[in-house]
Amino acid sequence: MNKKLSPSDGGCWFCNREILDNESCGFTLEFDAWLHIECLEKEVASLIKANNEWNDCETEIIAKEFYGENFRETFKYNPL
Ligand SMILES: [Zn+2]
Repeated sequence: MNKKLSPSDGGCWFCNREILDNESCGFTLEFDAWLHIECLEKEVASLIKANNEWNDCETEIIAKEFYGENFRETFKYNPL
């Protein structure tokens, strides 16, 4: 069971859980924080499903950092 940690203590930006060695993770320079790739993909997928540009600005900023300005197109053609 992962411990709860705030992003400033090395927890995942999205779920606030400790990132374990066997979990794939990324680092967002925009927010200076680690995140689980799985959490990022889930958040981006739901952001796109919601189809609302300003639904979640933070997720949108991170999505652009990781997948580029056209992250919506990228995800559309590579469904999770
Ligand atoms: Zn997470």
